[in-house]
Amino acid sequence: MTTYDPNPYDPNNVFAKILRGEIPNKTIYEDDLTLAFHDINPQAPVHALVIPKGAYVSMEDFSARASDAEIAALFRSVGKVAEMLGVTQDGWRILSNVGSNGGQEVPHLHIHVFGGKKLGPMLVKG
Ligand code: AMP
Repeated sequence: MTTYDPNPYDPNNVFAKILRGEIPNKTIYEDDLTLAFHDINPQAPVHALVIPKGAYVSMEDFSARASDAEIAALFRSVGKVAEMLGVTQDGWRILSNVGSNGGQEVPHLHIHVFGGKKLGPMLVKG
């Protein structure tokens, strides 16, 4: 049994509002368990976000509490989105910022998908 106790999920975070349809998004792909949409402030020619529909703060929260189906769905969505956005031929990157040191701004697990140019050794964030 896991003893992991994540930060409480904030149901008013921006991605929760997107999932409830309270604010708009540019959807790329959606299924029962995941949603993928374009980042509002793209850091590369292709910059998408893939999120689980469940209320998970971070990767450790997700990996501890999510069902196998949710975990599989998230990673299948990431692959589908990369195909849909046309980045698989030339290469691309995924990133998930977690917590303060990771620079996480939105406390709902999200996987960034970057592509469309040479991304360099690492994406630097202020
Ligand atoms: P992070 O710093 O990893 O938490 O990333 C949060 C990301 O969410 C940033 O890249 C923002 O540009 C993006 N973002 C914030 N609000 C929205 C929104 N309403 N629609 C799409 N992307 C957003």
